[in-house]
Amino acid sequence: MKIYFNGKLVDREDAVISVFDHGLLYGDGVFEGIRTYDSLVFRLKEHIDRLYKSADAISLTIPLNKTEMMEAVITTLKANKLSEAYIRLVVTRGPGDLGLDPRKCKKPTIFIIADKIALYPKEFYQKGLDIVTATTKRNLPQALDPRIKSLNYLNNILAKIDAIKSGTAEAIMLTHDDYVAECTGDNIFIVAGGELLTPPTDVGALEGITRDAVIGIARRTDVPVFEKMLRMEDVYGASEVFLTGTAAEIIPVVKVDERVIADGTPGKMTLKLWDEFKKLTKTDGVRY
Ligand code: PMP
Repeated sequence: MKIYFNGKLVDREDAVISVFDHGLLYGDGVFEGIRTYDSLVFRLKEHIDRLYKSADAISLTIPLNKTEMMEAVITTLKANKLSEAYIRLVVTRGPGDLGLDPRKCKKPTIFIIADKIALYPKEFYQKGLDIVTATTKRNLPQALDPRIKSLNYLNNILAKIDAIKSGTAEAIMLTHDDYVAECTGDNIFIVAGGELLTPPTDVGALEGITRDAVIGIARRTDVPVFEKMLRMEDVYGASEVFLTGTAAEIIPVVKVDERVIADGTPGKMTLKLWDEFKKLTKTDGVRY
């Protein structure tokens, strides 16, 4: 396996970072999770835009421009001869000293890993997921905005531990005032009264690339779609619930906190949107 590491392709063993790197010491950095389908990087430009937006939000200047960064992703994919891959692109503040001061970090660390993709088991898609509400609340956007895809993912990890303790694969995270934000690694949608609804991201959710794609599909296919503040009661009473994410794509949810959603099977609109999404993954991106 070849890893892109600060401008070079190196062997896996040689892709090592300093213990003084602030990405490691403080979670000071940003990242992206990107997927390829049959030698097409799905929505690469959108992922790169989000990466630079996240970096900007933490005052981190990436020493490559967006075109160079896209080329680095493609170079890594080609070097590993992968046509179906999951890409992890990370930019840290770089090595500094033991203090917090980011000005001491002179050179950001950039690495890109392209690996085989690990998917949810097929039966999750056929039968639908069973999820819970996390007891861990979502970070306040005024403290650490969840729209920044930063290396500081402990808020999500704590909620993921809540899910694991409940024997489920995902958990819904609520804002401090009990509005639905998203899941630990996926956005959430519900169908209610024939409308497709998802929480606005400023309540504390990532602006998911898949979320955006689904909203686009809905608009194109005349499905009424709205960003709306949601409570758990809306989720429990929904006719369909599904999650979206780069790895998960669109995954139906059939049970939340032991309550069965509608008739307990993946919903019609979910399956239709997933079908349309699959078509998009054949064309919407950059070929390599
Ligand atoms: N929310 C969170 C917290 C995430 O980490 C992710 C990505 N895994 C998503 C939502 C989904 O975003 P995307 O569709 O861009 O993968």
